[in-house]
Amino acid sequence: MTANSPANTPPKSRPTSGRPRILTGIRPTGALHLGHYVGALKNWVRLQDEYECYFLIADYQALGDHFHEIDLIRESVIEVTLDFLAVGLDPEKSTFVVQSYVPEHAELAMLLSFITQLGMLERNPTLKAELDSLPVTHRTVGFYNYPMSQVADILLPRAHLVPVGEDQAPHVEMTREVARKFNRMFGEVFPEPQTLVGEVGRLVGTDGAGKMSKSSGNVIMLSDGEADVNEKVRSMFTDPRRVRADIPGRVEGNPLFEYHDAFNPDTGQVDEFKERYRAGKVGDVEVKKALALAINRFLDPIRERREYYEQRPGLVEDAIISGAERASAIASETMIMVRDAMRISSYTSTRR
Ligand code: ATP
Ligand code: MG
Repeated sequence: MTANSPANTPPKSRPTSGRPRILTGIRPTGALHLGHYVGALKNWVRLQDEYECYFLIADYQALGDHFHEIDLIRESVIEVTLDFLAVGLDPEKSTFVVQSYVPEHAELAMLLSFITQLGMLERNPTLKAELDSLPVTHRTVGFYNYPMSQVADILLPRAHLVPVGEDQAPHVEMTREVARKFNRMFGEVFPEPQTLVGEVGRLVGTDGAGKMSKSSGNVIMLSDGEADVNEKVRSMFTDPRRVRADIPGRVEGNPLFEYHDAFNPDTGQVDEFKERYRAGKVGDVEVKKALALAINRFLDPIRERREYYEQRPGLVEDAIISGAERASAIASETMIMVRDAMRISSYTSTRR
């Protein structure tokens, strides 16, 4: 071993853009819908100009409650990548990371689990709620441990910022605790990541019953065609008391208007509809027709880009492979630092 071998001098982060690094992601358990756009993708598209972004397609984590649907996960890796490209995430600006292509995610999660108190999982409110809603047969050790896996996902690229919704905030807090503990015990390796609180919304489902969610079957997919959108909007839940168009209607909390606000750029039209709706001077049918049109116009460029990439699978593969290469480079840097700090496996360190 020479004096300059990696084991003696852990490399610092490779020179990058100098911009703060962001890690965020999604599980490939199906193609993405308007809820994902409002709650995540819209924000991500903006972030990629300002930050060095890593967009994780967390296929290990998808096993959590989809271990019996491996085919779905494999297909969804491609579907999600297509949706990323379709909404304008740019693999030249950002790094797409399929989690299993960078197996260091698993190694880091395993190593960090030894310095993590069980209580951190036991007290995690999001995990508790999710476990309660899982059938007993799905309550696996892997699922229970998924926040630990997220900790490793964030720390592996040594991310500085994590944009998350409220429900994921406990996982970032846990990441900070684990990073602090690791750094205290073994020496400074990980930045303590901060939560990036953005203006992310939460989109209600077409049934008005809760958030838009695949498992609730109340979704409009980013890949839905015009006819699907028209049909889904036509049968959307509105104000149930409004059996006739001349009955004054409720705008607040009405999914029709929530969607108009989110997807109809013609605010003048939206305001006018709201006024006429409250006064009982417009029928649901007219408001719905305008909404379907607005959603279709919103989706048109997304559909166009999706089709472009669907016809060029080589480009999709390039995005996945080049992302994996960039992510692997940074992951092996981190793992050299981690193994050296923990003084384990110097053989692997020197070999790399
Ligand atoms: P499932 O029904 O299997 O839970 P889902 O459609 O709810 O799937 P998730 O994989 O749970 O999708 O969502 C991933 C992330 O996408 C969430 O953590 C959240 O940030 C965002 N998201 C999903 N649905 C919505 C929504 N309706 N509004 C805003 N954000 C959403
Ligand atoms: Mg969900």
